[in-house]
Amino acid sequence: MTEAWTGGCQCGAVRFRVSSLGRASLCHCRMCQKAFGGVGGLLVTVHDLVWTRGAPSHFHSSDQVKRGFCRDCGTPLTFETANGVDIAIAAFDQAGDIRPVIQLDRVSRLPWFDDLHRLPEPTPEETAGKARWYASIVSRQHPDHDPEQWEPPS
Ligand SMILES: [Zn+2]
Repeated sequence: MTEAWTGGCQCGAVRFRVSSLGRASLCHCRMCQKAFGGVGGLLVTVHDLVWTRGAPSHFHSSDQVKRGFCRDCGTPLTFETANGVDIAIAAFDQAGDIRPVIQLDRVSRLPWFDDLHRLPEPTPEETAGKARWYASIVSRQHPDHDPEQWEPPS
């Protein structure tokens, strides 16, 4: 298991470290759908959160909850209440090690959510046709670790 849980936003302006994790969940509520621009909120409760670079901006989505995001690149980062902080699972450098264990507000799920795993993939011909374009991409995304120094390519 990972000893140091770290992560941050896509551009790297905001980075964090936590000592340990609580419950990981997928929340289907309409507010999480909007806040993540996706099927819902993939979040994990965190302990001893330290912002190691920058800090998130916040939107108070209700009188009980504020949601942190990177003001530079828009990455959703936190779900904060009086009881504690959750962080977006995919914002972690070790996202693949954080497995959701529960679905919340499943009644609000998008009507096609349960069919997503049955979607077809592109044909090998379609994938091959895009290979040159994929190979030409210069990523400006922060790497999934904290290097000594890092600046995005111009
Ligand atoms: Zn950012």
